[in-house]
Amino acid sequence: MALKLFNTLSHSIQAFTPLDPAGKKVGMYCCGPTVYDFAHIGNWRTFVFADLVRRYLEFKGYAVTHVMNITDVEDKIIKGVRETKTTLREFTGKYEAAFLEDLKTLNCALPHQMPHATEHIAEIISLIEKLVARGMAYQAADGSVYFSIEKYRGCGCTYGRLLKLNFDELRVGERVASDEYDKESLADFALWKARVPEDGGVFWPSPWGEGRPGWHIECSAMSMKMLGESFDLHLGGEDLKFPHHEDEIAQSEGATGKPFVKYWLHGAFLLVEGKKMSKSLGNFFTLRDLLAKGFTGREIRYLLLSAHYRETFNFTLEGLQGARAALARIDECLGKLREISGAAGFQPANSHTHERQPAGKMPALPATHFGVSTLQRFSEALDNDLNISAAWGEVFKWVTETNKRLAANSLSANEAAAELTAWDKIDSVLGVGASAKIEAPAEIVTLLEARQAARKAKDFKKSDAIRDELKAKGWAIEDTAKGPKLKRI
Ligand SMILES: [Zn+2]
Repeated sequence: MALKLFNTLSHSIQAFTPLDPAGKKVGMYCCGPTVYDFAHIGNWRTFVFADLVRRYLEFKGYAVTHVMNITDVEDKIIKGVRETKTTLREFTGKYEAAFLEDLKTLNCALPHQMPHATEHIAEIISLIEKLVARGMAYQAADGSVYFSIEKYRGCGCTYGRLLKLNFDELRVGERVASDEYDKESLADFALWKARVPEDGGVFWPSPWGEGRPGWHIECSAMSMKMLGESFDLHLGGEDLKFPHHEDEIAQSEGATGKPFVKYWLHGAFLLVEGKKMSKSLGNFFTLRDLLAKGFTGREIRYLLLSAHYRETFNFTLEGLQGARAALARIDECLGKLREISGAAGFQPANSHTHERQPAGKMPALPATHFGVSTLQRFSEALDNDLNISAAWGEVFKWVTETNKRLAANSLSANEAAAELTAWDKIDSVLGVGASAKIEAPAEIVTLLEARQAARKAKDFKKSDAIRDELKAKGWAIEDTAKGPKLKRI
């Protein structure tokens, strides 16, 4: 069955056909983090969704090039640099490192390319030059360069493809300098922002004087550089449809005259405990806040992946407890299968690596009938606009059925190994990891590291005290040839 996805551009579900005439290569761009703060759980829903799309395309045999930019210069960042009296690099470096760490914690495959806006100023300037040359951009009296919506529309192009905009009711023709604005203030938007004193040391030379790029043009320049003027997939949270993505389309198509992106995919919002996340309501969580509460990246990933990407999802702490229980069910089943498979040659599941994986063909299906049919139904569910709930349904049907077979002692070592292989293929998409790996909360890992440091310093009194503390928290240390391992007591 062919993969079908909801394309925001056509406002409908469409069969996915890559631009590549051979139907093999897929270019995929996901708007990455603006590194001015720790990413919150709503941001993570989008990034985990992008990871699912990439993994599933790879499962289907496509050779995906996944690009995610790092927005390391925009309005909020400049404000942060000013307030913290740091340099741009110091300020963004801290949050970028945290982002990469969080990406790993959630077992998201590292994008193949992660371009930084500040490293693509030349490409951004040349794209703006093209727009100026085509009459679609102009320098205003404030020194900044703006995109002209009127000129763009005058060339027969449509502004308002992802959202339907009613130009009769909107005040078109005014200018907006800030990166974020709502559709009521639809206006010519800034491509290049002339340097102002508040920018401090953040500016670059350009044909229009010193300044810095607007946020929207950064994504157009970087995505087209990495993936070409036309590419297959562009993803982001639904809050980015306007103005960010609408502006990306206008700038890119305005400059090249070619269709920019074939399929636009948008992930829905996330509520926390039934309400919109806000710091004042106490329901604003970064990934780190949840790890500090004792949840693991795997549990958080599971919960973020439990609902359809186009549905608003209510993220709750109770849901995380549910995720823990669901994963324990899977783990228990896998543990038993491992015991039985014994020497049957099962290799532990390869939790998605942070390196590029060669795109393979649709995985060879294991020999057991049940594994075959589960994988087929799992894939059919995801082909249907990534119907993840139905896909999880197949996983748990498989767990129930396998448990029955285990209880009846009806599985041979080879059959158990084949079921594990089936799971391995399923998990190449879900990425919730094999149970072989025990994931400890950050606090426990920190204690383990402190114990190692104490042992290195030959402070055995301290290292023993830490071991006892870990024990009191329910974790034992096993010293192995490969170093210490944590085990749940
Ligand atoms: Zn973007």
